[in-house]
Amino acid sequence: MSPSAINSNETQASGEKPGVVWGEQKPAPRRSGLSEALHRALVGVMKAMPRSVVRLAASPYIAGEDSAQAWRLADDLWRTKQLHSTLDVLGEHVQSQADIDDYFSQFKQLVTELEGRKHANISIKLSALGQAQDEDACFQRTRELVAQARDVGTFVRFDMEDATTVSSTLGIYRRVRKEFDNCGVVLQSRLYRTREDIESLRELRPNVRLCIGIYPENPSIALQSKTEMKRHLLELLNVLWDNGQHVAIATHEEWVIRKALELADKKNKPSHEIEVQMLLGVPRNALQKELVQRGVRVRLYVPYGRRWYAYSMRRLENNPDMLRMVAGNVLGGLFRAR
Ligand SMILES: Cc1cc2nc3c(=O)[nH]c(=O)nc-3n(C[C@H](O)[C@H](O)[C@H](O)COP(=O)(O)OP(=O)(O)OC[C@H]3O[C@@H](n4cnc5c(N)ncnc54)[C@H](O)[C@@H]3O)c2cc1C
Repeated sequence: MSPSAINSNETQASGEKPGVVWGEQKPAPRRSGLSEALHRALVGVMKAMPRSVVRLAASPYIAGEDSAQAWRLADDLWRTKQLHSTLDVLGEHVQSQADIDDYFSQFKQLVTELEGRKHANISIKLSALGQAQDEDACFQRTRELVAQARDVGTFVRFDMEDATTVSSTLGIYRRVRKEFDNCGVVLQSRLYRTREDIESLRELRPNVRLCIGIYPENPSIALQSKTEMKRHLLELLNVLWDNGQHVAIATHEEWVIRKALELADKKNKPSHEIEVQMLLGVPRNALQKELVQRGVRVRLYVPYGRRWYAYSMRRLENNPDMLRMVAGNVLGGLFRAR
C-alpha cells in the first residue's frame, strides 16, 4: 500500500499534550549560579507541596490516571471543538520487566478502545517498551501494537527521545514499516542529523511529526538557539512537503505556524492536508479555533497515567524552561483568555 493510501486517521483528510510531559532525562546543561539556585529553590518548593496541590498545577496538562478519564477528555475535545487527540500512557526509560509488561498491556488495552474513534490515535515511547534493555524484544512489542492498531484502523506515532535513541528508534520504525503503514515517526529540527535522516527515510515517505525537540543536546550535534531550531523546522517542513510527505507540525509558536501556513499557500497545499499538534494544557485556544475553522487538522497530545506525579516532578526538575513556561501559562491565564 502506498503511504498516501494509509488507512490511518492521521493521514485522512477529515480529519495532539500537556506541557509537563516533554522534558529531558539527562541532566540539563550547567546554568549560571543564580539561575541554578533559583531553579533548585523552585523545585524544592514544588517537592514540599502536598500531592494534591501539585495535581492541581499539573491538571491542565494531564488527562487523568486512567484511560476512562483520558477518553472523557479526548471525546469531549472532539465533540465540542473538533480537536483530534493522540493518547499517551505516561512513562519512559522503564527499567523493570514488570513495568515494561505493564506499559505494554496498558497500550494494548488503549488500542482496543480506539476502535470507532477516528478522532484519536496513540503515541508511544519506545523506552517504555524496553528499548534500552533489549531492542529486538522492543521491536516485537512495537510490531504487535502496530498490527493491533492496523486491525482497528488506527495509527501509532513513535515519539522521539534523546539523541542517543534516534538511530535505534528509526531502525525499529524501518523494520515495522516493512509490514505496516499505519505508523509514523518524530523528527527534531534541533539535531544536525535530521536532514540526512529525512533523506535516508525518503523511500518510505513516513508520516512525520516535526518538532524542535525537547531534549537538551550537545552543541556538537545540535542547534542551541530556539529561534534557529524553529527556522530549521520550517526549512525541513519545506523539504518534507516537497517529498509529498504528511507532516504534523508540533509547536505552540504562533509565528512558526503562520509561516507554515504561508508556505502551504505558496505550494497550493489545501488546508485539510495540514496538521498542527500541540500539548494539552498549553493555552492556545484562539489559535486552535482559527486553525480548525480554516480546515487545518489540530491534534492535542493527551497524556495520562498512574505515574503522573513522579513523571511531572522529574520533568520539572530536569527542565528549568518547563517550570518557567508552566508558571508563565498559569499567570498568563489569569490576565488573558487566548
Ligand atoms: C504534540 C507534540 C508532540 C511532541 N513530541 C515530541 C517528541 O516526540 N520528541 C521531542 O523531543 N519533543 C516533542 N515535543 C516537544 C517539542 O519538541 C518542543 O520541545 C515543545 O513543543 C516546545 O517547543 P515550541 O515549538 O512550542 O517552542 P517553545 O519556544 O519551546 O514554546 C513556545 C511557547 O509555547 C509554550 N510552551 C511550549 N511548551 C510548553 C510546555 N511544555 N509547557 C508549557 N508551555 C509550553 C510557552 O508559552 C512557550 O513560550 C512535542 C511537542 C508537541 C506539541
